[in-house]
Amino acid sequence: MKTSIVIPVYNEQENLPELIRRSLAACETLGSPFEIILIDDGSRDDSPELIQAAAAEHGGKIVGILLNRNYGQHAAVMAGFAHAEGDYIVTLDADLQNPPEEIPNVVAKLKEGYDVVGTVRQNRQDSFLRTLPSRMVNKVVQKTTGVLMHDYGCMLRGYTREIVATMRRCRERSTFIPVLANTFAHKVTEIPVGHSERTDGDSKYSLWKLINLQFDLLTSITTFPLRMLSVLGGIISAFGIGLGVLILVLRLIHGAEWAAEGVFTLFAILFVFVGAQFIGLGLLGEYIGRIYQDVRDRPRYFVRSVVGHENNPVN
Ligand code: UDP
Ligand code: MG
Repeated sequence: MKTSIVIPVYNEQENLPELIRRSLAACETLGSPFEIILIDDGSRDDSPELIQAAAAEHGGKIVGILLNRNYGQHAAVMAGFAHAEGDYIVTLDADLQNPPEEIPNVVAKLKEGYDVVGTVRQNRQDSFLRTLPSRMVNKVVQKTTGVLMHDYGCMLRGYTREIVATMRRCRERSTFIPVLANTFAHKVTEIPVGHSERTDGDSKYSLWKLINLQFDLLTSITTFPLRMLSVLGGIISAFGIGLGVLILVLRLIHGAEWAAEGVFTLFAILFVFVGAQFIGLGLLGEYIGRIYQDVRDRPRYFVRSVVGHENNPVN
């Protein structure tokens, strides 16, 4: 049973030597074949050279994939998946915030038969501003996917080969891997892991990148925001009609003087039309949402095994 460790690297030259040393040490304790795949996501520092040197030194155990420019963490991980040969695939961040020493624990859980092993960061060492968006995202994802996982931000995760193969068959461009994995997972579990502060280098996520990521996340799991347009339109229209009725009643009570020559009536009519437009947009959105689902071309299912057949073909 081979294990692949997939690590995206972006300007992590300070962390790489220790990362490689500790990951190798942790994987040696697995007692089975392994490969550590380091994907350089277009770093501008010495990371690519360090990866090349490590790959040359530990031939077979370390594989380097050098992307030509920065495509983002999840794209880098996907590139790693494409080259992963293992039966169990573990993703990890290069910044040593999650100790590589936890890799054997994740693999042990996968061996127990779980499809996806998540991790929950104990005493998370990030600033409040960094944890707040993650907390909000976790809530939204829990609501919409129905899969209960507490910590989506933590990239120390394990997947079986089937899950990774299925994720690779998804054609969409913007992906958020932990959530995507859960869409296909049958048995998921979580284990607690330590979390330490980033000691070297800065977080590669600026506020803007973080906002982008949240949008990726939201739009990748649901087309619900589109539906909100229709709902909003309905509310605005109802408000316009209500206002119209109110104006009519008050007009009958207080007379034409009060109605200010129909200015308010105009507003009421306007609201109804604005609402109607929103409903129209929402309808368009419904179709676009369906196009989106089809274009992504996600596999609808994958076969775990076929029983009662001569040579149980999987997938
Ligand atoms: N990363 C990457 N490409 C990017 C941004 C980040 O490959 O464009 C890698 C980075 O090297 C690290 C991981 O993704 O291994 C997580 O990045 P970071 O630690 O900066 O994120 P945070 O811990 O703040 O969520
Ligand atoms: Mg980090």
